[in-house]
Amino acid sequence: MVSYMIDIYGKAVPRMTEKKYIIAMDQGTTSSRAVLFDKNGNIVSMVQKEFRQIFPKPGWVEHDPMEIWSTQMGVTMEAMQRIDARAEEIAAIGITNQRETTVVWDAATGRPVCNAIVWQCRRTSDMIEKMKADGLSEYVRETTGLLPDAYFSASKLCWILDNVKGAREKAEEGRLRFGTVDSWLLWNLTDGAVHATDMTNASRTMLFDIRNLCWDKKLLSYFRIPESMLPQVRPSSCVFGYTGKFGGDIPVCGVAGDQQAALFGQCGFDPGDVKSTYGTGGFMLMNTGTDAVRSEKGLITTIAASSDGSVRYALEGSVFVAGAAIQWLRDGLRMLRSSKQSEEYCRAVDDSDGVYVVPAFSGLGAPYWEQYARGTIVGLTRGVTKEHFVRATVESLAYQTNDVIKAMKDDSDLSIGSLKVDGGASANDFLMQFQSDISNVNIQRPSCVETTALGAAYLAGLAVGYWKDTDEIKRNWRCEREFTPQIDEKQRKKLLGGWRRAVKCAAFWANGECDDE
Ligand code: ADP
Repeated sequence: MVSYMIDIYGKAVPRMTEKKYIIAMDQGTTSSRAVLFDKNGNIVSMVQKEFRQIFPKPGWVEHDPMEIWSTQMGVTMEAMQRIDARAEEIAAIGITNQRETTVVWDAATGRPVCNAIVWQCRRTSDMIEKMKADGLSEYVRETTGLLPDAYFSASKLCWILDNVKGAREKAEEGRLRFGTVDSWLLWNLTDGAVHATDMTNASRTMLFDIRNLCWDKKLLSYFRIPESMLPQVRPSSCVFGYTGKFGGDIPVCGVAGDQQAALFGQCGFDPGDVKSTYGTGGFMLMNTGTDAVRSEKGLITTIAASSDGSVRYALEGSVFVAGAAIQWLRDGLRMLRSSKQSEEYCRAVDDSDGVYVVPAFSGLGAPYWEQYARGTIVGLTRGVTKEHFVRATVESLAYQTNDVIKAMKDDSDLSIGSLKVDGGASANDFLMQFQSDISNVNIQRPSCVETTALGAAYLAGLAVGYWKDTDEIKRNWRCEREFTPQIDEKQRKKLLGGWRRAVKCAAFWANGECDDE
């Protein structure tokens, strides 16, 4: 007999307690991934496929939306096939996605009007400069929690309307739809029946009022975006619709941007909970509960995923180059055979011999926002070896993260008891210990580091009663290893003092002047 639960809209939803699996669709910047989880949060099947990165001009980055859709469908089917999972065994689908990336499509045909403009794309920088000159910075911060930047969706959407032939007229006639990647997948999964997004993704568009929870009319009018294009905004954990694409109806009932999904997957449900991701870039999010904390230290305010219908906020700090610095050692400088090997080199020496590497290859993000800063190496002496150099580069990931931790502490007045980590470079034990040492925090690394996919699965599973509540989920979180601070305050101060001076050098390169110039 089917039992029902009441969802946050007061509607009856069939309870999926008895089903075997949850599917997480993890649509990232470089690959589409599908992960099947069981009730204990274990991965039972996972398939990943990379797709094309399109660079039409320097600084421009695009994806083909049809390729996003087809790879996501392909990996999901294959992940199901590998363990012979049938639609009847799937309780729900959760979606997590690269954030801010902008797709516009025709409502009648479902065809995209052009390629997706990816979050990394800088083509609209001038539009943002104009926006700042028009005096809108403060309004953007107050309303959307963001700093005006080409990174967010608003200017990308405006660019499409301005530059794709006939797009603005069609949009004004109500014939086009806009969405971040989650909306695009939802639309396709439901054959155009659902045009929606969740609040975490909406909060990255620079068009969403994060306190009043609605699209902001003033910003829409500034970018001349017709409201009819916009998706309906819903909580992250609710039934968005049903998909029949996998051989039977499956509810799609969890949606969150990748970083917010990771915070949820790390069980960051309570104020003060923090997670730090060490991937290509670094992203730290702190749950600030029902307070939308305004940062005075260069962080942004964003909506966090929640499962109980209440709106939760987070402070976010992004580091542009984290694991990418290790890739640079491997591929650019050819100092390493693998990223993993960096740890061996770090351990071969007692310290970095006074060397600091500031990997500001594309400027510095939070909390500095020095877009013209460039990579800097200081402290070289004749005795410096490759090992010292590698160690200094690995240490830079921890120093940059520490800068964000400090900004978060100052902004939120919340103490950071422990830091939960994930992402590729979190596998480096040396790095984790060094982070714990210089930040004076306990670090917990979970046994499941696929926290982004797990977060999407949890949001979906909670919406249909596959998991009862967040307490049940917390019992799934297992610490694989904990790192505790091992150095004293004097040593910490010395190390951090050197880093601060090194960062000043990187910024001076951008802005400083010499007398004889
Ligand atoms: P993303 O999801 O951003 O593509 P991942 O979370 O998969 O990234 O992490 C990959 C990054 O982590 C790469 O930049 C790689 O150089 C770095 N990385 C992976 N393993 C290690 C390691 N053991 N030590 C240091 N860096 C590592």
